[in-house]
Amino acid sequence: YKVKYAPFKNEKNNIGGLIIVFQDITDEHKLDNMRKEFVANVSHELKTPITTIKSYAETLMESDVDEKLTHKFLSVIDNECDRMARIVRDLLQLSNLDYNKTKWQKTEVSVERLIKDVLLKLDFAFKEKGQKYSINIEENLPNIVVDKDGIEQVILNIVSNAIKYTQNQGEINIKSIRDEYKVIIKVKDNGSGIPEEDQQRIFERFYRVDKGRSRELGGTGLGLSIAKQIIEAHNGEIVLKSKFGEGTEVSIILPYTRV
Ligand code: ADP
Repeated sequence: YKVKYAPFKNEKNNIGGLIIVFQDITDEHKLDNMRKEFVANVSHELKTPITTIKSYAETLMESDVDEKLTHKFLSVIDNECDRMARIVRDLLQLSNLDYNKTKWQKTEVSVERLIKDVLLKLDFAFKEKGQKYSINIEENLPNIVVDKDGIEQVILNIVSNAIKYTQNQGEINIKSIRDEYKVIIKVKDNGSGIPEEDQQRIFERFYRVDKGRSRELGGTGLGLSIAKQIIEAHNGEIVLKSKFGEGTEVSIILPYTRV
């Protein structure tokens, strides 16, 4: 609590009492902590690749490294630059979402088309891990009015996660159903699942169950927070259900309106 007080005087100009105001600053305090934690996270995430780049570059400059090793070091540097670029790209997108600077171009799109376009882009990733996917789309599903690129990115993030956090030969199911005034897209995998204690925090920026593993897989830890913000900007909702060791199901719920 923040406490403010001021004496007040009566008609005879004597102090007649004291006004005390207790202000609950729990939310303010929480927000402040979140801000600090975010800055600490960004710094840390960028510091790691910078340290790697610096040390590899120094080694290359200082010693006689053969051509093969030189190439190896340069490719490490290249990879780390790519990682930094991904982090900065995601941070910029989040900042645009925070400040409502994202320009949405809403058009009527078919859910089936959206899903199939995303799967086409991920075909290589599926093949690489030897995973299978199945699609179930309810008949006569209404079209939705959304920013096609935005929603495509959300589905892409979520299906990519299903691929990343599911073992080789795993299975992923994507289905879409209608529920009154909503269209629901469900992405289900039989992968690693998320421990219960982490499920609440998984949509926070940079929160990851296993930082090392996420980094190895090229993740920035920002994908789900971006997805959540895009869906909320469409008055929708993302719901996660997961069982550690069994799998995860992410539901994207979008209202549909006729045009
Ligand atoms: P990342 O870039 O690390 O994948 P995300 O924001 O997309 O970042 O996801 C945050 C974390 O949530 C991941 O690091 C992972 O621990 C967990 N996660 C997301 N999707 C799944 C999934 N389908 N199965 C298991 N864990 C998942």
